[in-house]
Amino acid sequence: MTDELEQRVLKRIPGGAQLLSKRPEQFAPGQWPRHYSRAKGAHTWDLDGRRFVDMSTSGIGTCVLGFADDDVDTAVKQVIDAGSMSTLNCVEELELADLLCELHPWADMVRYARSGGEALAIAVRLARAATGRSTVAFCGYHGWHDWYLAANLAAPGSLDGHLLPGLDPAGVPDQLTGTAFGFRYNRLEELKDIAARHRPAAIVMEPVRDRDPEPGFLQGVVRVAEQIGAVLIFDEVTSGLRITTGGVHLTLGVEPDIAVFAKAIGNGYPMAAVLGRASVMEHAQRSFVSSTYWTERIGPTAALATLRKHRELAVGDRLVKVGAAVQEGWRAAAASSGLRISIHGIAPLSHLRIDDQPQPSITLFTQLMLERGFLAGGSFYPSFAHSDAQIEAYLLAVQEIFPLIRSAQQAGEVRAALRGPVAHTGFTRLT
Ligand code: PLP
Repeated sequence: MTDELEQRVLKRIPGGAQLLSKRPEQFAPGQWPRHYSRAKGAHTWDLDGRRFVDMSTSGIGTCVLGFADDDVDTAVKQVIDAGSMSTLNCVEELELADLLCELHPWADMVRYARSGGEALAIAVRLARAATGRSTVAFCGYHGWHDWYLAANLAAPGSLDGHLLPGLDPAGVPDQLTGTAFGFRYNRLEELKDIAARHRPAAIVMEPVRDRDPEPGFLQGVVRVAEQIGAVLIFDEVTSGLRITTGGVHLTLGVEPDIAVFAKAIGNGYPMAAVLGRASVMEHAQRSFVSSTYWTERIGPTAALATLRKHRELAVGDRLVKVGAAVQEGWRAAAASSGLRISIHGIAPLSHLRIDDQPQPSITLFTQLMLERGFLAGGSFYPSFAHSDAQIEAYLLAVQEIFPLIRSAQQAGEVRAALRGPVAHTGFTRLT
């Protein structure tokens, strides 16, 4: 990207992007392309026409089938031609609600939004309305809204382990102090403590993310929710559609009161769903939960096409297989090169950390990968479009690059090898 374009972006768009995870500073500042011109399958082209295989997050976890999936796009194009907006409602909302409740038999009703954060805000509002209580217990990241950032009002480090360290809740009213309390994954006693002291309206968490639940942990969470009458909300914004068609909780033997989906459910088209038990969902009638573009037709159409294809082709199985192969490739290359690494996450949401000089080293990894035609960093979220040949080519590059990073570390030359600044930390998920 030219310096001039970069300056124009930073002048017009605060932070240069709408999403923290899309800032080039998160990868290799000055080297990682900020913009794209085309994305198809597992490929992305930048503004200069350079083609990369995306071995990073497949669109921050959205394009689980691959970019611009033909089947989803065909369905979307049909409703564009038929009119994607009207004064009336689209029937795809009902078809999608039926499908989501068929996939999640514990759920009775569904409401929609278009992004994960706002869908979580709806879920929390419904929980507060249903219980008549205000506080929320949460684990992990759940979006940018006030209910969540309020956790950092009382104690500035409250979100450190859940979102990113040192987050300033600027603009969040002080009056929300003491309304949101974080607990760590697999630490049931922390949740029990919050439950005893604050009787939260809701318990909000991802059923699984960076590590598997310890035996009895999720069952313990369900019990706590039942005992205090809190609404249990599973955030499946990122974990949904990774292992199975629907929420990962379907594979864990636990049922929430509400589950929230976004990201992958629309395979690149904005869509979010809040599904839950009628006893909680019906409170959407009492509270005001309403927005014009939640009624457009592209989102539900894309979600229906995505879920149907996902189920038909057992996409979850493929994502697990590809993710596991990449984790195994990282491990093998690390063992043979002597590079010390840590791997986190379930196979379809894989995270790589280089243990020594982590930030400069992962920046060098990204730089060397860019040179070889891959968008790659510390996270790999496979899509159905990743071919075996692409995975093989990527792992060959890993085998070539890990020893180079190891040599640079030993020579004390990692920073000297970088052609730009070191990647910023941020949005590390420790839970
Ligand atoms: N919840 C989880 C678990 C997420 O991973 C994210 C996004 O990364 C969100 C909520 C927020 O979703 P969105 O970025 O669509 O607002």
